[in-house]
Amino acid sequence: MSESETSDRDVRRTICEYGRQLLADDLTTGTGGNLSARVGEDRIAISPSGVPYEDIEPTDVPVVRTDGTVLEGDIEPSSELPMHLAVYEARPDVGGVVHTHSPYATTFASLGEPIPASHYLLAFAGSEVPVTRYETHATPEIGEAAVDALGEEVSATLLRNHGVLTADASLEDAYTVAQMVEFCARIHHQARAVGDPEVLPDEEMDRLAEKLDAYGQ
Ligand code: 13P
Ligand code: ZN
Repeated sequence: MSESETSDRDVRRTICEYGRQLLADDLTTGTGGNLSARVGEDRIAISPSGVPYEDIEPTDVPVVRTDGTVLEGDIEPSSELPMHLAVYEARPDVGGVVHTHSPYATTFASLGEPIPASHYLLAFAGSEVPVTRYETHATPEIGEAAVDALGEEVSATLLRNHGVLTADASLEDAYTVAQMVEFCARIHHQARAVGDPEVLPDEEMDRLAEKLDAYGQ
């Protein structure tokens, strides 16, 4: 097997694993959400459209060229392929993209409210999680809205009246950001239900981002 076939196979397997993890972590339900990772300079692997995560096998995972041509996989790629491709095109630093309908973060998406940094772990995403303008799902326009909200540095945005999109150096990192965004949304919601949560200042969020980069073994 060639080196590129081996890396394609590994990335397709990783898509399956993180898809099942989305369900286990309550970040989505049913076939909602989707995820992708770069496989090379001009290719990505992306979850197939409308297939329950527990049923997706590595050979089902479409490998798609960045111009949208499907290279491998017998099942249609996610209907949000244009949004994923728009993020990879705009952000060469991004190696993985995760889209969820995780319930607490999506609550803020439906309110059209950014999630502020009332918990330090929001630094995984930026200094707040912005909200896009509303666009219909599975259109090029929702991709443009996500790219506009992400800008050059932020690694998460809420998709108005829809869900969450995270983008980071790898699929693993984008997945971690999706978990952190949901956790921080939940804490912010709970804190607001009983009081008036304090929001950390931007300078502290910058310091935290550096510390979190260096965190771990
Ligand atoms: P797909 O099953 O086509 O990936 O769509 C799910 C979704 O969340 C659409 O926004
Ligand atoms: Zn969706």
